[in-house]
Amino acid sequence: MKNQDKHIIPVFSQMGEKGLLVVLGGGESGVGAAVLGMQKGYEVFLSDKGAISEKYKQVLIENKINFEEKKHTESKILNADIVVKSPGIPDSVPLVLKLREKGIKVMSEIEFASQFTEANIIGITGSNGKTTTTLLIHHILKNAELDVGIAGNIGDSFALQVAEQTYKNYVLELSSFQLDGIENFNSHIAVLTNITPDHLDRYDYDFNKYIESKFRITKNQTAADYLIYDADDEAIINWLKVKKTKARLVPFSLEKELEFGAYLKGTKIISTITKEKFIMPLKTISTKGKHNTKNAMAAIMSAQLLKVRKQSIIESLEDFEGVEHRLENVAKIRGVQYINDSKATNVNAVFYALECMDKATVWIVGGVDKGNDYSDLLPLVREKVKAIVCLGVDNEKIKKTFGNVVDVIVETSGAEEAVKVCYKIAEKGEAVLLSPACASFDLFESYEDRGRQFKDAVRNL
Ligand code: ADP
Repeated sequence: MKNQDKHIIPVFSQMGEKGLLVVLGGGESGVGAAVLGMQKGYEVFLSDKGAISEKYKQVLIENKINFEEKKHTESKILNADIVVKSPGIPDSVPLVLKLREKGIKVMSEIEFASQFTEANIIGITGSNGKTTTTLLIHHILKNAELDVGIAGNIGDSFALQVAEQTYKNYVLELSSFQLDGIENFNSHIAVLTNITPDHLDRYDYDFNKYIESKFRITKNQTAADYLIYDADDEAIINWLKVKKTKARLVPFSLEKELEFGAYLKGTKIISTITKEKFIMPLKTISTKGKHNTKNAMAAIMSAQLLKVRKQSIIESLEDFEGVEHRLENVAKIRGVQYINDSKATNVNAVFYALECMDKATVWIVGGVDKGNDYSDLLPLVREKVKAIVCLGVDNEKIKKTFGNVVDVIVETSGAEEAVKVCYKIAEKGEAVLLSPACASFDLFESYEDRGRQFKDAVRNL
């Protein structure tokens, strides 16, 4: 369904008078929203409590956008007509509470940008698999020659693209924080890949609040829209039993045959959502593992709903290259396979990674723990992990959980050191897997930095 509700924009700005748009946060989404706001006739002020990178400052200056960094001037911010808040800023900070008390609308960049486009939106959320599924759907649609952009947490912000491009379709990766800041935003096709505990620190350690946040993706959907979801996921199924969505339900499953949806039969994916059954053998799909089979099912059905030809979908699934830092094969050195899964920042992602391993594995794990419960991993670790190499500042929980299960646990404090230790421990025919279950900020700048340092260290062996 296209975005019909455009009533958030204050009436005076539509009449040519400039309302004040305050943007909190000077990263990709904030700067994009500021540029779009200028283009649409707002007076724009961007404020960042931290430092703004040179790259973004340049964009702000070029677009003559007023901004401040390393502070928030409240007197100015509290005068806003609309505030676009970076998803990184929690709702609970005093400034946001004050804005809400004053009745000022605080929204995400996604909500703001969606008011200015009629494009068809395919929105992807979930705890894991968002980026992979977003890139996969984009790949299929682009190969099928649809006029399609990609945004969300990938590449240029949605707002910037709405300002500068004229795409008819967007594939958007949506985090729960972005969904928390929507009101009228809608996806014609919404994909909910799965829901497992993550980011609980931002949801008062309440899993239900996090589940509600993910389901905001379907809140504005109508009977003309579709919700594609994992029918094997307990949290999703339980929500759907109790709550309501107007969207047409489009499930996928690895465990059961579905009358309407996608499922696994032997070694083939079947989708029954079109008159003619869609059948594709798993072995020709370029990305491997059960989790990627699920991502492929979601992508296949999204493309089918957009009337992409079967053959075109099959070809795109065959030549999709996979995504950096997601179970990425780095190199085979002296018969040992090194795999970079640095993006595995929670327990569920590691679960799928370990499940894929068909060799004895030296597992590199650790970093900043977001409230992890490792117990789900115990059977897989027992079966597949020969040694654990900790890569974090505080490794107590890992040592405590796995101390009785794995004989060798070594603590390291850098990628190079970790890789050298693995090199000593792993033997021919085995694997080294970086799949940390944690965020990276204790020792690295980001998960990308962690993954690249790991790859560099492997290549320097
Ligand atoms: P996100 O954008 O949601 O963080 P990514 O596609 O970046 O998801 O993948 C993050 C991690 O989760 C990687 O380790 C990847 O191998 C794993 N993963 C990918 N798809 C799934 C899925 N459907 N279920 C569970 N884990 C997944």
